[in-house]
Amino acid sequence: MVREAVILGAGLGSRLKERTKAMPKGFLELGGMPIVEASIRKLIAVGVERIIIGTGHCAEYYEALAKKYHIIETILNPIYAQSGSMRTLYELRDRVTTDFFLLESDLIYDSAGLFALANDLRPDLLLASGPTLSGDEVYLESGPDGRLVKLSKRREDLSRNDGELVGITKLRPSTLQGMCAYAESVFAEKPMLEYEHAMAAVSKDDPIHILRIDNFLWREIDDEHHLEIAQKKIQPQIEQAEALRRVRREVLLNPGPATTTDSVKYAQVQADICPREKEFGQIMDWTRTELTKFVADPSEYVTVLWGGSGTSADEAMISSVVPENGRLLVIDNGVYGARMAKIAGVYKLNYEVFKSSTTAPVDLNALEATLKAGKFTHLAVVYHETTTGLLTDLPSIGQICKRLGIITIVDAVSAYAGIPMDLSALNVDFMASTSNKNIQGMAGIAFVICRRDRLAETAKIPMRSFYLNLWDQHAYFEKTLQTRFTPPVQAFYALRQAIIEAKVETIEGRYARYSACWNTLIKGIDRIGLRCLVKPEYQSKLITAILEPENTRYNFNELHDIARRAGFTIYPGKLSDANTFRIANIGDIQPAEMDRFVQLLQKYIDEIRT
Ligand SMILES: *Cc1c(COP(=O)(O)O)cnc(C)c1O
Repeated sequence: MVREAVILGAGLGSRLKERTKAMPKGFLELGGMPIVEASIRKLIAVGVERIIIGTGHCAEYYEALAKKYHIIETILNPIYAQSGSMRTLYELRDRVTTDFFLLESDLIYDSAGLFALANDLRPDLLLASGPTLSGDEVYLESGPDGRLVKLSKRREDLSRNDGELVGITKLRPSTLQGMCAYAESVFAEKPMLEYEHAMAAVSKDDPIHILRIDNFLWREIDDEHHLEIAQKKIQPQIEQAEALRRVRREVLLNPGPATTTDSVKYAQVQADICPREKEFGQIMDWTRTELTKFVADPSEYVTVLWGGSGTSADEAMISSVVPENGRLLVIDNGVYGARMAKIAGVYKLNYEVFKSSTTAPVDLNALEATLKAGKFTHLAVVYHETTTGLLTDLPSIGQICKRLGIITIVDAVSAYAGIPMDLSALNVDFMASTSNKNIQGMAGIAFVICRRDRLAETAKIPMRSFYLNLWDQHAYFEKTLQTRFTPPVQAFYALRQAIIEAKVETIEGRYARYSACWNTLIKGIDRIGLRCLVKPEYQSKLITAILEPENTRYNFNELHDIARRAGFTIYPGKLSDANTFRIANIGDIQPAEMDRFVQLLQKYIDEIRT
């Protein structure tokens, strides 16, 4: 797994004359976006979580890009006009912490090249292609063991031609340090040193191998002629090759599992690994920290995770955190609140149920009075009731509990990562969620984000469940960086990718996208003449329960099948006292897709009305 990337983007690009006089070469547009931005998206899609760009000429372009993609850092080579690419790499040498991809900024390429490099066990590996006839080739000569021994723009300098340098390499930080040491020794006489010559120099002692893909689709764009060939020929070929690997799109409008990106699906395709290996432990450790960071400070909160669905997270919370002399109140304002009460019953806790409307806010005064009168120590509440789309007033409830010193247990399974939250400000002590809803990963990982001090207090509560005990799982993970029992390995790789994509989008950005989809839906429902179960002001904007039309010809299964044939999956309602169907707008979906669904719904309703 390659987690970091470095892009060399300082160059003047003087051979493109007017085009790049006031703009870096990477900002040439092909396929509707700057080529360096397309490259960044490809890097993110293969799991790169941090990108460092060495800048120089028109650095402000890259700084603007870093504002758009929060995982980008820029470093200026102050003498870019009087130095070569090795100097730019030298300037950022201390930023790199793990194995990384090194790329030139003026490339278009098939993303399969990144997969091929990452998938190869050799740690230092340079991508090469067969002949491009571009007129600007860097030829490579390899030794008997396949290592790079020499490179040159002049074919006659080499005794063999083993391929052309693409400008995409996988390196270890130690190899970069070796290149920098070499560069220091020659900068005085060769200020214009290019990074590839430093690679050739260090490869003598510490091999940088060549991975040659004969028909690799790529082009470096250095002059008008390259640009023309790239536009007319290479870019369309790359787009076609990448389109062949796209997974058929199914838009899930059911309330989770949610639609995932192709990059999340493909992230599961990794070499087999025993999850007890240290490197897998590090992936889980990174995952738990990043899950925490979306909603809290990791020094104050910690995520406990294991293989299971969201209900196992609810069950772990309820069974692990209420002491024997504790009293639990469970707010039941829908199916999921009722489920938490049922779990409390199964574990024979000392608990009561606070019944509340499934369509209107909780009566806060009555809640406070009940909490006081009943001497409750814990409150369990669902933040977003997925069956109705009702959003509970968690900020107010959190404040009441804070005043009364009550520990809060929150099922935020369908709110987490879709609605911006600050657990500390909300006074949430334990919060449950899962990998397959708004975080947009695969099903299979349940997690509870716990206030560290509250979690520690649960250590002395006798275990009621063997598998689902929060403290035991946490203590074991802290000690070993392993889950107690087999984790869903591939789901973890997918979740890691989903986290990277959520960081790029930001939770605020995600909420804005979800809201835009919801607005499209709500306007459509109104136009069609249907009604929502819950008033819009009480809704989450993530899931909408729509009252079924009072028309004898309406048939949910028929609507479901029509939608399914058009690539949309919808879900029936779940409440016993109202006939609804539900439309969720969580997951990797766009307003334009929701618009298409609304049109389809309109057509169906029009037909049954005539
Ligand atoms: C999805 C969901 C759950 C968990 O359901 P599973 O089927 O166990 O994944 C729990 N609570 C809420 C509010 C949910 O939306």
